Amino acid sequence: MGVVTEKHETIDASKALEGLRHIISKAISNGASDIHIEPREEFVWVRYRVATTLQLGTKLPSSSLKGLMSAGKKLASLSLSENSRPQEGEFDISLNNQDHHIHLSIIPVVGGEKMVIHLSPRSSDVISLEGLGYWGANLELIKRTLGHLRGFVVIASSDRNSGSLTLLGIINSVSHPSLKLAAVGDPWINHAQIANHVKVDPRKGLTPERSLRLIIRHDPDVILVTDLNDKDAAKTALEASEKKLVCVSLMAIDNVALLQRLSNMELEAGLLANMTRFAASQTVIRQLCEHCREAYTPPAALRKQLDYLAEDYTPKQLHELEQLAIRSGLGAAINEASTNAKEIIRLWRAHDGGCEHCLYSGFRNYTTLNEVLDTSSRKIQKCLTKSALRRVDIQEAARTAGMIPKHIDGIIKCLRGMVGIDDVLEIAKASGYVQA
Ligand SMILES: [Zn+2]
Repeated sequence: MGVVTEKHETIDASKALEGLRHIISKAISNGASDIHIEPREEFVWVRYRVATTLQLGTKLPSSSLKGLMSAGKKLASLSLSENSRPQEGEFDISLNNQDHHIHLSIIPVVGGEKMVIHLSPRSSDVISLEGLGYWGANLELIKRTLGHLRGFVVIASSDRNSGSLTLLGIINSVSHPSLKLAAVGDPWINHAQIANHVKVDPRKGLTPERSLRLIIRHDPDVILVTDLNDKDAAKTALEASEKKLVCVSLMAIDNVALLQRLSNMELEAGLLANMTRFAASQTVIRQLCEHCREAYTPPAALRKQLDYLAEDYTPKQLHELEQLAIRSGLGAAINEASTNAKEIIRLWRAHDGGCEHCLYSGFRNYTTLNEVLDTSSRKIQKCLTKSALRRVDIQEAARTAGMIPKHIDGIIKCLRGMVGIDDVLEIAKASGYVQA
């Protein structure tokens, strides 16, 4: 896969603003989170990051650089004459019929200036739990729980973005004009319905716990707390969940690690077991471009790896899960199942060199691999009342509670042509399900 030069994209100074808007528009339609524009010896390199991967991107003539930097500075209201010091700014832009909030940073580098454009996640009104790859029984459990507007919901975030994405999906599920939503923490959870949003800032006396108490005084129906790692705030959040729906995110690689973290927070065990409704964990993963993805028969060595990864599932169980996924509309463009009751018939992979729809990368947009744990099961309840939990014990309890682990969700999404198996194996390695 080589870097592609798009001749028709040559940008001269007079058209630089239009050119930059075109680059941002391409990034948005590909689900990119950021754009990197930098000078190289013989060209300007424009690259897009989708999920965690920086794509190979496109080359533009070196003469485009000055125009693009000026266009970026104009959009973000920065000094046009400054080119030897870093500058940062923000602006809103309407593209593809949606409003987007953009953060732009320009730094001087050898050969000129480099620009990084960070796109806020797709405007929050289009982030739904379904759009984030939640399906079947998991989706039903989440929606059923949120309907009660009371209880403690814990979201594991394997990176800063992914937990916040699920919180946005939750907001959009519960969102109703008569409900009052409030948030503490990460300021980028911008949502029209969040009337109260307190940013944690200990220098101003706004500790996580104090911010939370301020919010509770305003009597919201739903409270969101991002990156909860303060014990006092966790205690206050749990107590508030007796009367309200409190959704919190914590840094943890999966649900098992999440429960371990919770058990170390010195919370009142009985209350934690009583009020916790579910735990969810997700990892953002790039999606295969549906215009150019290819089906293939997995070779023997890969089948062996898959057998090991899904050792708790018989081929028949995997087939049944895929049937459920089909009924839930997962990978709807592919009509036939990729499994039968005996084996995996085919998998899907990115086309080498991609196509024009995916900026020649083979990947377009992102989804998540996720796992949802129903915490009402007796074994999980028992776990929640103990401290210093062992990973192996929670794993066993989660299995008994019927949780489909993230890597199995990944295999199902591979079968439905949504993601590539190599990316799923990478995520499984990080969780310790396959050997690194
Ligand atoms: Zn493509």
